[in-house]
Amino acid sequence: MDSLSKRNLPFQEEHQIYQDQIGRFVLEELLPNEVRWEDQGYVDRDAWLKAGANGLLCPSMSNEDGGPGGDFLHAVLMIEGLARHGVSGPGFFIHSEMVTPYIIKFGTVEQKARWLPKMASGEVIGAVAMTEPGAGSDLRGMRTHATRAEGGWLINGQKVFISNGQTSDLVVVAAKTDLADKNSITLFLVDTTTKGFQRGRNLEKVGIHGQDTSELFFENVFVPDDSVLGQPGDGFKQLMHGLARERLSIAIGSQARAEAALKWTIDYVQQREIFGAPLSDMQNTRFTLAEMQTDVEVGRAFVDDMLRQYLDGKLEPTRASMGKLWLTEMLGRVADKGLQMHGGWGYMREFPISRLWVAARIERILGGSNEVMKEIIGRSLVGRGKA
Ligand SMILES: Cc1cc2nc3c(=O)[nH]c(=O)nc-3n(C[C@H](O)[C@H](O)[C@H](O)COP(=O)(O)OP(=O)(O)OC[C@H]3O[C@@H](n4cnc5c(N)ncnc54)[C@H](O)[C@@H]3O)c2cc1C
Repeated sequence: MDSLSKRNLPFQEEHQIYQDQIGRFVLEELLPNEVRWEDQGYVDRDAWLKAGANGLLCPSMSNEDGGPGGDFLHAVLMIEGLARHGVSGPGFFIHSEMVTPYIIKFGTVEQKARWLPKMASGEVIGAVAMTEPGAGSDLRGMRTHATRAEGGWLINGQKVFISNGQTSDLVVVAAKTDLADKNSITLFLVDTTTKGFQRGRNLEKVGIHGQDTSELFFENVFVPDDSVLGQPGDGFKQLMHGLARERLSIAIGSQARAEAALKWTIDYVQQREIFGAPLSDMQNTRFTLAEMQTDVEVGRAFVDDMLRQYLDGKLEPTRASMGKLWLTEMLGRVADKGLQMHGGWGYMREFPISRLWVAARIERILGGSNEVMKEIIGRSLVGRGKA
């Protein structure tokens, strides 16, 4: 309980056991495959099934819903466990923390029974499809729409940048039920074997190559009435509902990555000889480490404070936005300094700092871009303004 007991959070012995289990799984099953997955552009299904069998998918899903029955702290340990080792390929986070919560929170008994147990076991991989080529931050501008058909809906449109898009079996799709009404956004559970559903390219990103990110196309995709999550038109409210947890989760992962970057850098500068002495002998190195350590320490205090508030049901969405903003910016600073300290080796894929540095960049854009976070925080202080 060493590292966990210092955190002033209600961790129990079972959390320590779970953390050790994740560590072993990462070292034995994930890290040895990362480069191969990066080369092929997706993670093997087998890794999902093994993760499910070991209780590492959807950690906080209850036994009743078919999950391993942990709590949010188990989910935290899972996010940290992958981030701390620089694992970026498996889209477990999106699956477990972005997709299943919609079904847990808003699904009917039948929807839950159909999807959740298989999501926990890894037999079903989940994705969430909001973004479109013309609508990212401004989701109300989406053009994908669903029109009434006998016994259900016909979905037409296109999505882009969808994580797990190539490998998913279930996609939570946001579509308008009335294109003229920007508030008619509705969430549909779409089985990817449905006729008219098509995957486009596995998009070429600058980093996290092991995680598939796709275009998706919908051409008269028929979904029965019982595929609607909640009621037609509930979509925007549902999207808002999980934002505090999502943003906190991004902050948690960013903190763990920053700690990893710092650790790797401390190790590296002590063993790298330069001008006849370890690189750590240079004052600039020690100053850089000092800046990184200070950032990481402030980050840890902020993240764990937000976590305590979340567990007490008191984390305000605006504060979660501050957490997402600050922690992802901090990760960018720390990863960049860490890479610089590695010199040319830091730019080589074989050094984990290089992959962490590229992976870190997306965190400022995902989950609501950092400019959107600033808007939310700013408005909470002085209202909307004229612009
Ligand atoms: C690797 C990756 C994985 C992704 N996974 C998913 C996924 O699984 N599902 C999904 O639905 N989407 C996913 N996305 C999409 C992601 O959520 C969007 O890229 C993000 O919301 C930004 O939208 P956009 O790319 O259209 O940029 P835009 O919205 O066009 O933003 C462009 C710029 O405008 C700024 N901006 C936006 N709004 C404001 C504002 N109010 N004030 C000031 N500036 C503003 C932005 O910060 C940004 O700098 C993923 C993206 C990537 C790159």
